[in-house]
Amino acid sequence: MKKQDYITFIKLLKNCYPDATCSLDFETPFQLVVAVMLSAQCTDERVNKTTPTLFARCKTIQDFANIDIRELENLIHPCGFYKNKAKNIKLCAKQILENFGGEVPHTMEELTSLAGVGRKSANVILLEVFGIAEGIAVDTHAKRIANLVGLSKQKEPEKIEQDLIKAFPKEYLKDINHIFVWHGRNTCIARKPKCESCVVKQFCNYYNRQVKS
Ligand code: SF4
Repeated sequence: MKKQDYITFIKLLKNCYPDATCSLDFETPFQLVVAVMLSAQCTDERVNKTTPTLFARCKTIQDFANIDIRELENLIHPCGFYKNKAKNIKLCAKQILENFGGEVPHTMEELTSLAGVGRKSANVILLEVFGIAEGIAVDTHAKRIANLVGLSKQKEPEKIEQDLIKAFPKEYLKDINHIFVWHGRNTCIARKPKCESCVVKQFCNYYNRQVKS
C-alpha cells in the first residue's frame, strides 16, 4: 500500500464504525487498570458483568491493596486466570500507593513497571485515561487483521505495533485499536471473515488471494 492507501484504508473503517470506543466500563483510572487486567483471555462483556460487584466492594486503590486475596479471587473468578489476576491486581495497587503516591502513572515506562501491566495494557490506559496515543494496543483482533490485510507479517504484538506505527500517520494512532476491535467483531471475524461486505477488501492480501485462486 502507498501512504495515501493507508489513509483511505483507515478512513473507510472509521466511517464504517463511527462509534468505535473502548468497550470496558470504568469510572476511575484504577478501575480501568483492573478491567484491562481482567480482560486478558476474557471477553469485555464478561469483564463488564464482573466489575460492578468488584468495584462496589473495592472503592479505592487502598481497598484493592488490602482486600483478602481469597475474597478477590472469588470476586473475579468468572474472568478466568483468577489466581494470577488477583495477585497482580493487589500487587499493582500496592505499587501505585508506594511508588506513585496513589495515582495511576501516565508514562509507558511507569505503567509497564506495574505488576500485570504490559505494553498492550499500558497503551489502552494511556489512551483511555490520559488521551495519550503513544502507540497502538495490539490485541487478538488487531493482530489478526494486520496479518490478513498484510499490514504486518510479524507475529509478536510489539513488532506488529511498530509496523502499524510506521504505516499510519500519527493522528490516526488513537483510532486504530478501537476500529480494529470493532471490525474484528463485526466483519473480519476470526473463524469466518465476511470479506464480501468488507469496506477495505480492495486493500486486503487475504481477500485478493481468495479472488485470484
Ligand atoms: S477482506 Fe476479509 S480478511 Fe480482509 S480485512 Fe476484510 S474481512 Fe478481513
